[in-house]
Amino acid sequence: MSTEPFTAEARALDAADPLSTHRAAFVGAETSLVYFDGNSLGRPPRVTADRLADFVTTEWGGRLIRGWDESWMDLPFHIGDRVGRLALGAAAGQTVIGDSTTVLLYKLLRAALAERSSSDPDRVEIVVGRDDFPTDRYLVEGIAAERGARVVWIDVDTARGVDADLLRAAVGPRTAVVLLSHVSYRSGYLADAEHLTRIAHDAGALVLWDLCHSAGSVPIALDAWGVDLAVGCTYKYLNGGPGAPAFAYVATRHQGALAQPIQGWMGAADVFAMGPEYHPADGMRRFLSGTPPVLAMLAMRDTLDLIEDAGIAAIRAKSVALTEFAIRVGDGILSPLGVTLASPRDPAERGGHVTLSHPTMRAVTARLWQQDVIPDYRDPDGLRIGLAPLSTSFTETLTGLGAVADAVRAES
Ligand SMILES: *Cc1c(COP(=O)(O)O)cnc(C)c1O
Repeated sequence: MSTEPFTAEARALDAADPLSTHRAAFVGAETSLVYFDGNSLGRPPRVTADRLADFVTTEWGGRLIRGWDESWMDLPFHIGDRVGRLALGAAAGQTVIGDSTTVLLYKLLRAALAERSSSDPDRVEIVVGRDDFPTDRYLVEGIAAERGARVVWIDVDTARGVDADLLRAAVGPRTAVVLLSHVSYRSGYLADAEHLTRIAHDAGALVLWDLCHSAGSVPIALDAWGVDLAVGCTYKYLNGGPGAPAFAYVATRHQGALAQPIQGWMGAADVFAMGPEYHPADGMRRFLSGTPPVLAMLAMRDTLDLIEDAGIAAIRAKSVALTEFAIRVGDGILSPLGVTLASPRDPAERGGHVTLSHPTMRAVTARLWQQDVIPDYRDPDGLRIGLAPLSTSFTETLTGLGAVADAVRAES
């Protein structure tokens, strides 16, 4: 079966899409390239090129060292608050842009473990999913070895993620902290973060949410859900560019009690006092360590502007429409080839990407990249179709899935 039966529908969906004009704001939108990896590295907005060039000339070149006093020192907090307001449901003063996701997860996990086990020495367990993103699992293992803690692994179906029953069975009076992914990097499973947070709290544990695959595509309400801690990438749906620094959220009620392990001068109470001892700053500054990566946090501002304009509800509505369409086209043209869906069918349990399984997918991915159709591959046998709602069209989605079908046929 060809994509023909879906062509008119894709055109109609694009014509009716209230976000279609936002797509034109991205570099490359005018080309025939199909991009299915905006969930790993988002496309750059066109205005970002000017923003970066202007910064080099006017601010770095013009203000030189004065720039730190004039504005750069506040950028981690200023941009962090904006990420919080537009994408996280977080009131000001709880979000900061800092190091990589890996480093921020490390800092907050260590801080949470120390806080819980000092108030109750029996709390020595860190709970994490066995199918969680590698960096998350490796960090937990490292911290457990470093601090004499114990890892409690939650076994999950790789086409889903951690749900309420699985979490309830894993937590208890020995749990210190639970690390969970809001959207599974593999299956796209969308966890019920509010419900799971409550389960962790009922067991007396703190919860740290990894928001890498949800921030910027799924509505998040950290304050309303009572979340303790969260970390997420800015180079995925927030289009901050390769290696852009991550954000960390710490609920106000915990900030004073948490001590993070990488004590550096930028987290000190008086940065320029250069005193003999470290005293942590109040508020979110204490979660910084060294000099903020100013250049690397500029680009995400342009996508925050787009999110502010579009609204996260409209972004989620398009995301659901895109993944529904992709699943329907997949059922029509890929199922007959033996391709199966390794993501939830219920949109309420699905984030912004869908994963398609077939034994040929590794070779299929390599073939597609050469044809300017760019999904990515994840073991076992999974082709991830990431559908960034601001920059992806329905026609692009259909074209790409048609190419997947051709490639599966060629490799089978
Ligand atoms: C992308 C991703 C990361 C990446 O961490 P970095 O430190 O930016 O390399 C971590 N966790 C999850 C769930 C991810 O999807």
